Amino acid sequence: MSQDPHQQSVTQLSQVAKLLQSSYADKKDRFANAIELLKSPDKVLETELSITLDDGSEKSFTAYRSQHNNARGPYKGGIRFHPQVSLEEVKALSTWMTWKCAVTGIPYGGGKGGIIVDPKTLSQAELQRLSRAYAAWLAPFIGPWVDVPAPDVNTNPQIMAWMVDEYQNTMLASANLSENPVATFTGKPLELGGSQGREEATGLGGFYVLESLFEEIKKEHGWKVKSDVTIAVQGFGNVGYWFIQHAVAAGYTVVAVSDSKGGVYVESGLDAAKVLETKQQTGSVSNYTGKQISNEELLTLDVDIIVPAALEGVITAENVGDISAKVVLELANGPTTPEADAALHNNGVLVVPDVLANAGGVSTSYFEWVQNLHGYYWTHQEVLAKLEPLMKDAFTEFWQTRGEHKVDGRMAAYLVAVKRVVDAMLIRGRV
Ligand code: NAD
Repeated sequence: MSQDPHQQSVTQLSQVAKLLQSSYADKKDRFANAIELLKSPDKVLETELSITLDDGSEKSFTAYRSQHNNARGPYKGGIRFHPQVSLEEVKALSTWMTWKCAVTGIPYGGGKGGIIVDPKTLSQAELQRLSRAYAAWLAPFIGPWVDVPAPDVNTNPQIMAWMVDEYQNTMLASANLSENPVATFTGKPLELGGSQGREEATGLGGFYVLESLFEEIKKEHGWKVKSDVTIAVQGFGNVGYWFIQHAVAAGYTVVAVSDSKGGVYVESGLDAAKVLETKQQTGSVSNYTGKQISNEELLTLDVDIIVPAALEGVITAENVGDISAKVVLELANGPTTPEADAALHNNGVLVVPDVLANAGGVSTSYFEWVQNLHGYYWTHQEVLAKLEPLMKDAFTEFWQTRGEHKVDGRMAAYLVAVKRVVDAMLIRGRV
């Protein structure tokens, strides 16, 4: 990547601003001021957290929280535990969260946090101490109406449960607890106010986007029925599995899947339940009966749609020329580098960007927060019935904007998002 991630988010914002400025001709200066403010987070917190390790020694870890913009609602975004966490990364990820929440219309701004740590080197007890230290430090700066963190890379519902508990203790100790503390974090276990449907929400949200896309482009590609559409999915974790499960059940032909150990291709289509069984029994989807392929080959298969659902930065300037799919449906975060993104557009490949395609997860986090604030919980069916129109309406808005402005997919999603955020800043009189 030629630019650091935050610089990359600023470059994207400048490009969006150029396209949007004519819509704000009567408020030119206020629009320009709003864009300037959006180039940096509202607030970035940084500290050193010190914990006692199991052997009695002390170790410190650098921790961050970036609160990018709250014009549309409380800051919202995950907490990442990873050795490569950096200030610039956290700032960029919080910016992209602002756009992701705005593109689906959920009433949140963007935030992101992280700790520079390899959690595999910690025992469960050490991991709990570090998670609690982070929550205690952050407690005065978060809350249901201020900033609502969630899991991200290497954090999970258990870690959220420890953080909720520590947050509650810290706020009680300072006599500052006025709201239900479980509403301060999402992605929690069901036993502690988590939501039904959260586990499958990202894959399912991606499937709803696929359904809307199919209706829009079936004529153009001569698809009569869903089984005419061939799909290859990179990654068979939470997101990949649920996406495939719903896509296959609806009749799409998923011909290839992979995990970190390799992949498999079956021309007639895969059976989602059998792929899962193979993964559980042998440790990898690549042992499914079919032609073995590598992760690199999967992306260049002659299929209609490729779905990166594993890692970031997998579609690059090096392999973009070999991609023959008509559509890239980004379920992973940041799977396409900026250079590859431009090349895909030039080659006529439609990119449905991550901020829209994988927003089912944060949208269901929003439902979790709503349930926590009401103390009233919905059934699995009720959650899914709310997610479907939310994702499909977001797709419609994205599709219309793409048509109106004749821009690539990522730019279309950003146009919708940035306009909503700028409008909220203007109506508040912030600029
Ligand atoms: P996960 O850990 O459950 O699964 C990751 C999958 O990627 C696994 O199948 C793993 O084998 C595979 N993988 C790892 N290394 C690989 C490699 N070198 N090549 C191919 N596959 C490889 O993770 P997840 O929750 O499914 O998340 C996947 C992506 O979706 C990530 O980019 C994540 O940030 C993004 N995402 C997840 C959610 C969510 O709700 N889980 C929400 C939004 C975005």
